[in-house]
Amino acid sequence: MITFKENEPYSPIKYVYEVDNILYKGKSQFQELLVFESPDFGRVLALDNIIQLTERDEFFYHEMLTHIAMHTHPNAERVIVIGGGDGGTMREVLKHDSVKKAYLVEIDKKVVDVSREFLPFVSSKLDDPRVEIHYEDGAEFIKKIKDIDVVIVDSTDAIGMARALYSEEFFKNIYNCLSEDGLYVTHSESLLFHREMTIEVQNTLKKVFPIVNLYSFAIATYPGNWWSFAIGSKKYDPRTPNKPPVKNTKIYDEEVHAWVFLPKKLFNRIMNKEVKW
Ligand code: SAM
Repeated sequence: MITFKENEPYSPIKYVYEVDNILYKGKSQFQELLVFESPDFGRVLALDNIIQLTERDEFFYHEMLTHIAMHTHPNAERVIVIGGGDGGTMREVLKHDSVKKAYLVEIDKKVVDVSREFLPFVSSKLDDPRVEIHYEDGAEFIKKIKDIDVVIVDSTDAIGMARALYSEEFFKNIYNCLSEDGLYVTHSESLLFHREMTIEVQNTLKKVFPIVNLYSFAIATYPGNWWSFAIGSKKYDPRTPNKPPVKNTKIYDEEVHAWVFLPKKLFNRIMNKEVKW
């Protein structure tokens, strides 16, 4: 039996996956790419030996990353996805009929090419006419564009080339590219394993956005599992959706929208570092 051991440098637990078959192994200018088939998780994408998605549970992450902001905005027309070259987040964005233009800004073309070939369950909507793909650094792209309703950052971990996507300067540039009622959302790692970083992202966002919050969802394949998402908003409170739920989701609905936000007292205790683990 072949196995794949994940090498996530900031995780104290290393996951080992059984591998039925390696479908693709290669290297781009930016990272190593691997697609394999696992008996338990279906097709799996790893970048630099870190799991990015599995066929079995990718929709938990992609729905949660996308639909809180996309339902908080009443009619998002112009959306940017930064990273997300596999296409899973874009698939969810396009479920909103209000969307007229959706930019995918992925630094590594190879991720898109490999996903198109081996991961159709996430990449299948990348040819939608509303999608415009740009192969460049998202931190540069957002300096050149305006009137965006929702920016979604679906990047690799906040180390290496994705580091710039968590800086105050980047958040300011995001703020400036958003329309007057725009929203921004990103994943902010695991509340169990990377609590300090989750808190840091909240604190940095608060320097830029008037409304900042955190929500979370359990994701089996990301180390620490208790996965967090940081959201910044110019006008709308992200706890409350402003449109009915889109129909074809597996997990997201209006009850889930309310439920994913932490109880306020617990949220404050975590942010004030009164509770640690
Ligand atoms: N859901 C995934 C996770 O957290 O494990 C992320 C998936 S997606 C494949 C991440 C993508 O972000 C990668 O394809 C990577 O090339 C891209 N990326 C990293 N830094 C970037 C940047 N500065 N600008 C644009 N794309 C970036």
